Amino acid sequence: MTEPLLQVRDLRKSYPLRGGLIFDRVIGELQALSGVSFTLNQGETLGLVGESGCGKSTLGRCLLRLIEPTGGETLYRGSDINRLSAAGMRALRAQIQMVFQDPYGSLHPRMRIGDTIAEPLRLMPLSAGARKDKVHEILTMVRLDPSYAERYPHALSGGQRQRVAIARAFAPDPDLVVLDEPVSALDVSVRAGVLNMLREVQRQKGTAYLFISHDLSVVRHICDRVAVMYLGRIVELAPKAALYATPRHPYTEALLSAVPRADPVTERGRQRIILHGEVPGPMNPPSGCPFRSRCPKATDLCAAERPALRDLGHAHAVACHFPSPAPLEEKV
Ligand code: ADP
Ligand code: MG
Repeated sequence: MTEPLLQVRDLRKSYPLRGGLIFDRVIGELQALSGVSFTLNQGETLGLVGESGCGKSTLGRCLLRLIEPTGGETLYRGSDINRLSAAGMRALRAQIQMVFQDPYGSLHPRMRIGDTIAEPLRLMPLSAGARKDKVHEILTMVRLDPSYAERYPHALSGGQRQRVAIARAFAPDPDLVVLDEPVSALDVSVRAGVLNMLREVQRQKGTAYLFISHDLSVVRHICDRVAVMYLGRIVELAPKAALYATPRHPYTEALLSAVPRADPVTERGRQRIILHGEVPGPMNPPSGCPFRSRCPKATDLCAAERPALRDLGHAHAVACHFPSPAPLEEKV
């Protein structure tokens, strides 16, 4: 078996909470990531879903050290990114790229598209001609005409800008691209085009994706496996088919019950699970299981003991004391 591309172990990030008259005192800490572990294989797409504020962007940024994690390991091809020097980190930056949600903020307004895409190629020993060829090749790959190299961002639509941001991420031939809500700011009419393009590029290049989204239907379109986050933790992680057909964590069940089905028969039978209460603030998460304050199944055990994320077989991992039963065929 080949080594995973990325092994994340017990990754943590806390922010100091400031108080006092001029916010000059640290009065506590906010746990944005409370021990996240998962692996990502070469060429696969792992989806990361969960409600706003659960820590998805923090996780994505910590992997690239755009923000510094406060604990844990991120092994990339076996060595810990979090221990790399600044020079080591610069060398790695080409191999791990990130695409952000906002296609308007992520492109320099006074730089031509061609120069934006060529920027990450500066560190490579390429002639001007070879660089230009590469920019044209990448524009074609994201299905934009090479003539776009001469344009400025203001002349592009949101969908076209996001294609440029994706093109720039792919310029240095990365092994892993972290995509943080890459289609959430786009019109529904252009989303499918961008998602299909991402899949096609991945097929050509063998790139691994960590695909972050709050939208379960978008993730379903593109991922191989899916991780569900709640309050800074992964609560369920499974191959896509298993997660969508037989979710086993009550939080995933509730999230999925809110997604309309395409098939009118199952849509008519869809039972909506309504979660009561608000998501607790990450400053004061509940004792034991972080989900128990909204969980229909919660017992005293859930208040006393935090359930670990454990593999229940078939690569289906759940952090719950009372996971829903597996379907019959999984038991044999
Ligand atoms: P998501 O991307 O899932 O919406 P984030 O990772 O952006 O969630 O945020 C996770 C938690 O961390 C939230 O409670 C958010 O308010 C908090 N947070 C994010 N960035 C900072 C920061 N720079 N300082 C303090 N708290 C932050
Ligand atoms: Mg986010």
